[in-house]
Amino acid sequence: MTQLSNDCFASGPPVLSVDEAVMLIATRVGAVAGVETVPLRRADGRVLAADLVAPLPLPLFTNSAVDGYAVASADLPATEDRALPLGGRVAAGAMALPPLAPGHVVRIFTGAPLPVGADTVFMQEDTRIDAEGRVVLPPGLHPGANVRIAGEDVAAGNVVLKAGVRLRPQDVALAAALGQSDLAVRRRIRVAVASTGDEVVSPGAPRGPAQVFDANRFMLMALLERLGCEVVDLGIMPDDRRRVADGLKAAAAGHDLIVTSGGVSAGEEDHVRAGIESVGRLVLWRMAIKPGRPVAMGVIDGTALIGLPGNPVASFVTYAHVVRPTVLSLAGAIQTRTVAMPVRAAFTHRKKPGRREYVRAQLRRAADGVVEAIMFHRDGAGMLSSLVETDGLVELGDDVLEVVPGDTVGFLTYADLD
Ligand code: AMP
Ligand code: MG
Repeated sequence: MTQLSNDCFASGPPVLSVDEAVMLIATRVGAVAGVETVPLRRADGRVLAADLVAPLPLPLFTNSAVDGYAVASADLPATEDRALPLGGRVAAGAMALPPLAPGHVVRIFTGAPLPVGADTVFMQEDTRIDAEGRVVLPPGLHPGANVRIAGEDVAAGNVVLKAGVRLRPQDVALAAALGQSDLAVRRRIRVAVASTGDEVVSPGAPRGPAQVFDANRFMLMALLERLGCEVVDLGIMPDDRRRVADGLKAAAAGHDLIVTSGGVSAGEEDHVRAGIESVGRLVLWRMAIKPGRPVAMGVIDGTALIGLPGNPVASFVTYAHVVRPTVLSLAGAIQTRTVAMPVRAAFTHRKKPGRREYVRAQLRRAADGVVEAIMFHRDGAGMLSSLVETDGLVELGDDVLEVVPGDTVGFLTYADLD
């Protein structure tokens, strides 16, 4: 559907670093063309298709930030209390009053427009009413206090949301505040998800003694749905080259991306490789990443295909570094590099140079108040409990050789990978 060229994933060094893989995807995968208009209520998580230029300023008009009394700064008491008579009342939503008469105050409420001539507001808690009904103002308030000036938040004509942003609730709020009832967004990316393997059965189905329930498909579909994709479940493909090939070829017609797991290693039972090669173009990426094994990248009739490793943890980690950026590129989203937050390591770990490693870790606050990462004790690539019982991944750079307690390491929460 997206009409990628057959060799778009082909070049690059024999072993790709994570950064090289992400860069290759960003430069080779273009955005789908479709744009649709959605009501604001449906805009969360969607990718904005065009810059939003503020048609109005925010605040829309100069108004009071508090309940109290509006005055002209020329009338502010200098050193002693000053009593001024009341010259009107304006509530939120009311029309602005006639200009404030000099030497008077106006009763005003939060969000109400400031009368012409008033530029400062006393909080009601800081004032009192004297025997003659005048408002007694204390000295010390600076001119302009408690006033929200039109345009101080957003100037009309400025780009407030950039094309490619994945809309968050606060972005939706800004669009709403500017009066936008709907937004132009990129169409959703259509992704087909399949598992492979004769040993894999769906949860709920009868299971033979040497079979396992399919975990990856449900993990991948959930991840992709969180990323805003329209997900189609292709079920489980057997370890049979012909049937894999036919299934993928059929899926290519209606989707922007096909994601599979399992069957991409070099064993003779790894039929996804051969299956793709017979109906499209396959490239095996050896990625310098742990956990993770070769990741298959391919194109079938212009549609991208990614074959992830079968071990669930390897599948999860390679999803984050290969599938996620591919979906974001297809969706026309700005690729923001997730920044690992510095935390203190509370573990010892040795690693090989020349590859990026992700260590599943829990966070805790140490006695001195610093946040520490504890490496999870079960680290096999098939151990799902290690993903469930941890808070995120410690990212160890390609050149790191060892971590000792007290080192500062980068930490990505699972929420960062949504
Ligand atoms: P493979 O990459 O096909 O060699 O599979 C590697 C390991 O992951 C094997 O132990 C598989 O049984 C397991 N595996 C493959 N696919 C899945 C899946 N969808 N859910 C859970 N485990 C899987
Ligand atoms: Mg397999």
